[in-house]
Amino acid sequence: MRFPNRPFLNLTILFYICLISIHLPLKAASSLAAWSLGNNGVLKLRTSPGTDLKAFYQSAEAGKGDRIWIDFPGELVRTRSLKGSGPIKEIRLGKPQTGLTRFVIEFQPFVSINPSKLQLVGISPDLWELKFVGLPIKGLKSISEGNISKTRTNRSNQRVSHSSSTIINLSDLPDFERGRYRVVIDPGHGGPDVGAVGIRGIRESEIVLDISLQVAQILEKKGVIVHLTRKSERDVDLPPRVVMANRLRANAFVSIHANASRSRSRDVNGIETFFYSGSKGFRLASLIQKEILQVSPGSPDRGVRRGRYFVIRRTNMPAVLVETGFVTGRLDSSRLSTASHRRMLAIAISKGILNYLKEVS
Ligand SMILES: [Zn+2]
Repeated sequence: MRFPNRPFLNLTILFYICLISIHLPLKAASSLAAWSLGNNGVLKLRTSPGTDLKAFYQSAEAGKGDRIWIDFPGELVRTRSLKGSGPIKEIRLGKPQTGLTRFVIEFQPFVSINPSKLQLVGISPDLWELKFVGLPIKGLKSISEGNISKTRTNRSNQRVSHSSSTIINLSDLPDFERGRYRVVIDPGHGGPDVGAVGIRGIRESEIVLDISLQVAQILEKKGVIVHLTRKSERDVDLPPRVVMANRLRANAFVSIHANASRSRSRDVNGIETFFYSGSKGFRLASLIQKEILQVSPGSPDRGVRRGRYFVIRRTNMPAVLVETGFVTGRLDSSRLSTASHRRMLAIAISKGILNYLKEVS
């Protein structure tokens, strides 16, 4: 059986890039059933039918070579490392968090992978293929675990995810001369004020703190001076958040939140970004909104809107309040509760802010 529209994942740069959403069945067995890496540099993965995968690329750093990794729902029974050959230093199968299997290929330091050439292609509902184009295959020996060629007979009710793919390449984002810009990142709520509480008890304050800390880290790497209104689970009133931004004469203020629907309907999902006034505030909001939508396929665009929230009304600089999704929504909450989606959101928000700073500079 051929699949006319092959789903694929582009592997991307930076720290992480993700391409499609993932829904984690807790405690389920790993959906990675078998894998093989041929001496021609082609990786094949057999999964449970219809599995949502995420693929990542990270360039060499701190004594490690280039790496690619692929996350699968479900847990491995046994984590392990296998020595590679030729261009491959090591292959690892790990459990980075509950309910997740991670397959990692680490290349030798002399190998340079071009992530823009990588696509993980769905060949059938349970088979994926990734060709390492341009890989120096000298000395590469075939290696595999499980039966990659095992085919399933009944595919009638199997489905391949056609989620849209997204590429964010942090190395393409603007860098700034250190200290030229100052940005205040405001993780909403905190401490006893947990904000919205969603499906399976997920809490807005924790989600937005995780995203905010990562945004701060990314912006700092790009030369921006970042001040966080809180760095831990503590309660901070709204006026001090504003006072901090005004005192610092920040170039931008970004408050990060997650939404809840009043009716608690699980069908309400979506992304929205508020500004209070000014074309710069509107522009900042628009650039962030656009990037968040890119990493949130299927989540409705609720738009860039004027809002009268205290923190964006009383700050003197372009200021926005971002709603990264509904903790009460079926689609958004399952994503917001995964670390990999929060990472994507952090990259997306950072990209919006950096693009804004580039525009105004
Ligand atoms: Zn909030």
